[in-house]
Amino acid sequence: MRHVKNLIVGCGFSGAVLARKLAEDSQEDVLVIDAKDHIAGNCYDYFDENGICVHKYGTHIFHTQNKEVWDFVSRFTEWNPYMHQVKGVIDGMEVPIPFNLNSIETVFPGFIAEKLEKKLVERFGYGVKVPILDLRRSKDDDLVFLAEYVYNKVFLGYTLKQWGLTPDELDPAVTGRVPVFISRDNRYFQDKYQGIPEEGYTKLVEKMLCNPRIEVLLSCKFSEIREQVSYDRLFYCGPIDEYFDYCFGQLPYRSLRFDFFSYDLDFYQDNSVVNYPENYDFTRIGEYKYFMKKKPLMKTVISKEYPQAFAEGVNERYYPVIREENLQLYKRYADLAAQQKNLYFLGRLGDYKYYDMDKAAARALDLWHSVS
Ligand code: UDP
Repeated sequence: MRHVKNLIVGCGFSGAVLARKLAEDSQEDVLVIDAKDHIAGNCYDYFDENGICVHKYGTHIFHTQNKEVWDFVSRFTEWNPYMHQVKGVIDGMEVPIPFNLNSIETVFPGFIAEKLEKKLVERFGYGVKVPILDLRRSKDDDLVFLAEYVYNKVFLGYTLKQWGLTPDELDPAVTGRVPVFISRDNRYFQDKYQGIPEEGYTKLVEKMLCNPRIEVLLSCKFSEIREQVSYDRLFYCGPIDEYFDYCFGQLPYRSLRFDFFSYDLDFYQDNSVVNYPENYDFTRIGEYKYFMKKKPLMKTVISKEYPQAFAEGVNERYYPVIREENLQLYKRYADLAAQQKNLYFLGRLGDYKYYDMDKAAARALDLWHSVS
């Protein structure tokens, strides 16, 4: 039987960050395996025949407030300066998402917009982000009117498509990711550090894994090598419920399907991401060219994003479904994990957390600190 010091299951952002820290800073050998036939997990991207960098699992924008994370990740890539903006089609009009003061002016007549803006600023202050579920609890009739409008037009349809649940059936933090923003700032994120890796996420992760102490095995399931490899420590970025053979039942996940289309056009739409809360079965359309510094002429690629129920063996896990009953089930698995020695879980699936890439990286860095 082969013995390795550290076995990491999962070669996405979390696994790659941890592998690099163990190899470089702890000077330990690491074997990283992944069931997929490529590295970089769900941030995997590739350049198509026209030189457009396509994100296979949907648009990924790197953004963080965390300087340690930014500095670490920036060792492996140059960045295309990029400030993400999202447009949503509401009543046939394109408005900034998160819904903000500019959105209000687009959808309401001037005198109504003015009144609503004044009330919002008076009640909450300028520059403040208010989760829609909080805004709905307003006492003021005009703010209730606004909250109901935004809830129904921006959140309800999108969330039903995305999760198969209403906003109230999810943890408030889920819709709280995209709060109403009392501002004219149209950016999706206000983080200090934002960008798109110049050569793509796959290249970034490849460089992270490029260390003589790191070995990568692809198309390799943990169950297939479990009996052939022994290890001192196991770091598991796969689903925690799967690791424990679903002994307490399955943790719910949401999946996505992407339909890709290429066009001989300069641009298909006027923004990188356009959300469709009200119309169509897809939630959003992403156009990848917007993320690139050098944009090929008269060629573009888009994806339409169709949320789906997750089914084992049929599609991929994309999102943990964050709501009370699922978190309770997760806790039973986490308690079981805590009883095991030299076994650690991380990543969206291992921690059952709705991590963005920077949070996944921060978690991997923290875990490395705690085991070093
Ligand atoms: N959301 C919505 N309408 C929108 C954008 C977001 O209802 O136009 C809600 C929806 O429930 C979504 C959540 O906010 O799942 C988080 O959105 P985010 O853009 O952060 O999702 P991600 O990019 O992670 O899929």
